Amino acid sequence: MSNTEIIAEANRYLMNTYNRYPIVLSRGKGTRVWDLDGKEYLDFVGGIAVCSLGHCHPLVTQAIKEQAERLVHVSNLYYISAQVTYARMLVEKTFGDKVFFCNSGAEANEAAIKLARRYGRKTGKDRYEIITMENSFHGRTMATITATGQDKVKKGFEPLVPGFKYVPFNDVDALERSIDDRTCAVMLEPIQAEGGVRVPDEDYLKEVRRLCDKHGILMILDEVQTGMGRTGRLFAYEHFGVAPDIMTLAKALGNGFPIGAMITTDKVADCFEPGSHASTFGGNPLAMAAAQVVLETISNGRFLSEVREKGLYLKERLMFLARKFDKVKEVRGLGLICGMELKVEASPIVMSCLKEGLLVATAGTRVLRLLPPLVVKKKEIDEAVERLSHALEVS
Ligand SMILES: *Cc1c(COP(=O)(O)O)cnc(C)c1O
Repeated sequence: MSNTEIIAEANRYLMNTYNRYPIVLSRGKGTRVWDLDGKEYLDFVGGIAVCSLGHCHPLVTQAIKEQAERLVHVSNLYYISAQVTYARMLVEKTFGDKVFFCNSGAEANEAAIKLARRYGRKTGKDRYEIITMENSFHGRTMATITATGQDKVKKGFEPLVPGFKYVPFNDVDALERSIDDRTCAVMLEPIQAEGGVRVPDEDYLKEVRRLCDKHGILMILDEVQTGMGRTGRLFAYEHFGVAPDIMTLAKALGNGFPIGAMITTDKVADCFEPGSHASTFGGNPLAMAAAQVVLETISNGRFLSEVREKGLYLKERLMFLARKFDKVKEVRGLGLICGMELKVEASPIVMSCLKEGLLVATAGTRVLRLLPPLVVKKKEIDEAVERLSHALEVS
């Protein structure tokens, strides 16, 4: 089968929910993927910040294989040993005391929204409102599109879930003004990813924390995209000297095996009891086996300091392109999440990159987003920047 044949079939059988690029990826190794016609690409999308250890990492493949031969799935009606081990690993590496497992980012955020409402009501008052940020992204379920501060994901799906309010990101005064006696939580991404790779001012998250403490409300950090080493720390909140009350994770947890998690403190976790929330697949043995290897590898030795070094290197190389090409407006990012804001539309540049053999994503209409595997080599960064430079030149 060729790219063209599969694409024709896709349009016949798949729901039209994505504007897909015209290639079929069939094989991957490390930072590289190959399409059905045999063309090679440097993958600076990584499944959208999912394949942090690169494609088909041998340790992850081995863990999945071995677990698949022993036990794939059992219900959460029983204890699952690998789930306990992995929860302990997460607790030891975070602010949290307890973990809930699910299968995706949206599900982790749903769990956080439900938990925050329970917490709000525990005060004896009717506190259920959650303040989120303009330009945020939290998922595609009804509650998470409502939490998302972008109209385009909500259009036609009204009536939405009541109880959400929006304020501009990185604006402490606006947040303070919007908190009232109905508010139970503030929910935000430490760096807005889909919203254009926006890194807040250094003290912004500290100020959010201060306001949450002052009003007795929860701070929920959506680290679905920024977590698991993407920014050069295991979790992005570590850069900003704060800890949230609830953190949600997904994308990179299983290096491609679907898994989501919500982490919180004992005090907040106590608002759920048996029957409050559940997930059939959440924390199943196969997912836990993959996730354990990922966390071990990322936390090991110099892995994260290398991510920070490579992140600075990539940013520096992109700044060079920014000086060279007038159509580049700004370069932003932290660790290995990088945004390049353009003065023109981003998607034609993405198409040119594709032709040059480089996969990059967009974030909004004018921002190119680069999310290489965390194992990317400096040589591969050079190669990618070279291909991007060509793409900027020809388009
Ligand atoms: C991708 C993403 C989500 C949604 O995750 P899914 O696994 O697609 O449901 C939520 N929040 C953020 C910040 C994300 O980047």
